[in-house]
Amino acid sequence: MPDRYAVIGNPVSHSKSPWIHEQFARACAQDIEYGRIEPPLDGFSAAIDAFRAGGGRGANVTVPFKQEAFRYCASVSERASEARAVNTLLLDRGAPRGDNTDGIGLLRDLEINLGFVLRGRSVLVMGAGGAAQGVLPSLRAAAPARVVVANRTADKARALAARFEGTTGCGYADLAGQSFDLVVNATSAGLAGELPPLPPARPLFAREALAYDLVYGRDTPFLDFARAAQVRASDGAGMLVEQAAESFFVWRGVRPDTRPVLAALRKS
Ligand code: NAP
Repeated sequence: MPDRYAVIGNPVSHSKSPWIHEQFARACAQDIEYGRIEPPLDGFSAAIDAFRAGGGRGANVTVPFKQEAFRYCASVSERASEARAVNTLLLDRGAPRGDNTDGIGLLRDLEINLGFVLRGRSVLVMGAGGAAQGVLPSLRAAAPARVVVANRTADKARALAARFEGTTGCGYADLAGQSFDLVVNATSAGLAGELPPLPPARPLFAREALAYDLVYGRDTPFLDFARAAQVRASDGAGMLVEQAAESFFVWRGVRPDTRPVLAALRKS
């Protein structure tokens, strides 16, 4: 019998995780089966209990269950504790354990795949929801000169920033006249075809800046906004593959090569 894993979310039918883990398993000769679980919004715990009872060894957690997964776990890794959110469940040995691979996934995509080194750079993170919460610990750990969190609901940005040293929170209007080397869109605005209310592209984007949208597989208004100003821009496909690879490593102890999987994902 192959070892069983799954991605749990609502909705989850669009998720690329089963395909990505299938590619990793084949390349690393791991006998696993990876499915999808879509419980009702109030059904997360019951669904994971049933999956565990049926022999499930691990799961990736996506919107809107990452905070609930954090509360479900008996213990969590340091990076999940800092993010207060879990995207990777380990269910095979005793009480459920949780990890968060979103931050390291973004960092590897930025620093390794895109060659953007964060040390000493100025970073703007848009959004203060689960995704921003998940990536901030890793961004901070990479030693940027400063990190600003901006959100439509400015108080949420201030509350989130207050948890991380050297990080400030604000509303979009406060960004006027400021300049950043990296602008990360961690909002879900792109899914609705919307652009957060940013000030003009110059001086917002510094020279040689990188614009990064966590949303993947589509040209969002934010990516269009950056490209129109001749700013280098990337969607979140690399982060998706890198966070999956880290989950695979946590579960299986084997680190898959992400490059062919990312190339195939982009082609598809
Ligand atoms: P969330 O918890 O629902 O938070 C949504 C955030 O977006 C909030 O800060 C919200 O601001 C902001 N927002 C929504 N619509 C907006 C608009 N029109 N203008 C400005 N701000 C807007 O969602 P999440 O879990 O953080 O996920 C955010 C995105 O990241 C999703 O699209 C998800 O697909 C993506 N993601 C990608 C990866 C990857 O591997 N590439 C991993 C994780 C997440 P308010 O607080 O003011 O409502």
